[in-house]
Amino acid sequence: MKRKVLVLEDEENIRSFVVLNLKRSGFDVIEAASGEEALEQYEKNPDVMVAVLDVMLPGIDGYEVCRRLRASGYGAGVIMLTARAQESDKVTGLMTGADDYVTKPFSVVELVARVEALFRRVGGAAFKEDDAIRSGPFKLNKRAREVTKNNLRLDLTQIEYGILKVFLENQGKALSRDDILEAVWGHHYVGELKIVDVNIRRLRIKIEDNPANPSYIKTVRGYGYMWEG
Ligand code: CA
Repeated sequence: MKRKVLVLEDEENIRSFVVLNLKRSGFDVIEAASGEEALEQYEKNPDVMVAVLDVMLPGIDGYEVCRRLRASGYGAGVIMLTARAQESDKVTGLMTGADDYVTKPFSVVELVARVEALFRRVGGAAFKEDDAIRSGPFKLNKRAREVTKNNLRLDLTQIEYGILKVFLENQGKALSRDDILEAVWGHHYVGELKIVDVNIRRLRIKIEDNPANPSYIKTVRGYGYMWEG
């Protein structure tokens, strides 16, 4: 798989330094010197997995580029390069859909490490839309057998993945423990229904904002569970 990274930076010396280091780390790098150019490059390279976006640019700024990328369906990683370490900048960046930010002046070693880390989190999933099921902040990629929440990969077992898949394919529908057991473990499974509850308890810890008061996997008393997207 190609490890494609888009680098948007108007200052040529910084850009070429970043590009050089990313290439040395084995990334396939696409360059852009303006926000407009970055958006054009994304059109031509929809398989970009991580975008490194400088905020301060002539023309549209990095936040706007991030917003437009997300609006056009870009589901992979975004790292903002911000000149200021102000809290408001971080908030703006995260609000527009960035996953991470690096403050200038930065060490290129650190930036490459952040790109690597984000690539691993979004990696595997090539974000082909027809292979994905979405619900709120969740996206399930069938081909890669993985689920992301707010673009961050969830660390799931295959069973947990299987349960989540059944839920996402049956959003808003009450599923009995038997339904879940059969769909995930298969109808040859000999064992207790309790295994469903145990796995759902674990799954809630991994996916819910507040596992004690779950808002995605609802309990249907005396019956089973339901996914509320
Ligand atoms: Ca700049």
